[in-house]
Amino acid sequence: MKLRFLGGVGTVTGSRHLLSDDNRRLLVDCGMYQGVKNLRRRNRAPFPVEPSTINAVVLTHAHIDHSGYLPALVKNGFKGRVYCTRATHELCKVLLPDAGYLQEEDAKYAFRKGFSKHDRPEPLFTEKDAREALKHFESVHYHETIEPVKGFEVWFTPAGHILGSSCVHVHHKGSDRTVVFSGDVGRQDDVIMRPPEPIGKADVLVCESTYGDRLHGETDPCEELADIIARTAARGGLVLVPAFAVGRAQMLLYLVHRLILQQKIPKLPVFLNSPMAIRATEIFIHHHKEHKLSQADCELIDDNTHYVRTADESIDLNTRRFPCVIISASGMASGGRVLHHLKTLLPNARNSIVFAGFQAPGTRGDALVNGAESVKIHGDYWPVKAEVHNLESLSAHGDYQEILQWLGQGSLDPGKVYISHGEPVASDIMRKRIHERFGWDTEVPELFDEVDV
Ligand SMILES: [Zn+2]
Repeated sequence: MKLRFLGGVGTVTGSRHLLSDDNRRLLVDCGMYQGVKNLRRRNRAPFPVEPSTINAVVLTHAHIDHSGYLPALVKNGFKGRVYCTRATHELCKVLLPDAGYLQEEDAKYAFRKGFSKHDRPEPLFTEKDAREALKHFESVHYHETIEPVKGFEVWFTPAGHILGSSCVHVHHKGSDRTVVFSGDVGRQDDVIMRPPEPIGKADVLVCESTYGDRLHGETDPCEELADIIARTAARGGLVLVPAFAVGRAQMLLYLVHRLILQQKIPKLPVFLNSPMAIRATEIFIHHHKEHKLSQADCELIDDNTHYVRTADESIDLNTRRFPCVIISASGMASGGRVLHHLKTLLPNARNSIVFAGFQAPGTRGDALVNGAESVKIHGDYWPVKAEVHNLESLSAHGDYQEILQWLGQGSLDPGKVYISHGEPVASDIMRKRIHERFGWDTEVPELFDEVDV
């Protein structure tokens, strides 16, 4: 069996791994590239292998950097099935059409405003393409063994990162070898997700390294969040939280409502302004057995959040000048309704912007948390006067210590570990740490490397 790294190498986006033998090809994750332009440009390049020659796809989870290229893959000739857990399927039904819609809107907007370098900017795929791709989906239970491609057995175990997230185990019957893909790995002690399940056995492990070089720190992010919200409200400002629609938005809603309940912050109105995050919250509440929150916790969120659904309601919310908390997507401020709020709120020192997770280089989120004095949104520069915070410890990714702890929990002893899904320095430090701790042969692959497994 061969393993080829088609993406998610030297970066945290565009995850794509190809397993193959003499006859068949199985793609693990089919992510879109996000962040700096050179990465985004890769979305436009022809897929490195002819899509029609791939027999099936399996997904670790629904986030766009792991699933978002699927509509383009189908559009370009992929005919097989896409396998994932039930919650991942549910979330993809929301995320993929939305991604298509955003692609279309961005292309139209760029054309209208004339700030695109292309004569007629074309979307990478449309909402219709995304709905077409969804027809290829099949959902699977955790721990259920399937054979999506003849000779390749696959099963999923919980990864604790977001609802439905999983480590993908692939056993090649011909060579009797097992490769495990960590996908994105969650926290050992997350507010809403249970910890990742230990991996039993792997001959080869492909492990993420988003926080390979960093720890989330000892400070309590809830205290910090309470402090920021209380301080901002006291000076009459608004708090804007750009959040990943799936995962962190639900956790932040829960945290804010809990802080209000505990009287650690004043009883402010809480708005969730993202149709996608609203749908993801409904799915999250529906799949209550797959996370830590109780029925009462879910009701706390559902009963007290103002869901902002229509564009008119969103525009209306953007004229608001009284203290409140607005949670809106996207989490790295690379698109979505959060941009309109940023344009209104950034120029005023009374307001606070609170990021809650990894900010990929090249995104507006990254520029803001690194102290940019202005950011470009919709073709214009906007001054940054508001307070900007990044509570990275609210991230849905385990830090290196948590990953090492998780790897040490089972009876794992892989012959080889490949480090993926990290910035170059983070991946390399993760490589050293895994080797030092366990003595395993560990390597950071190059993009498009192919190895025998
Ligand atoms: Zn993810």
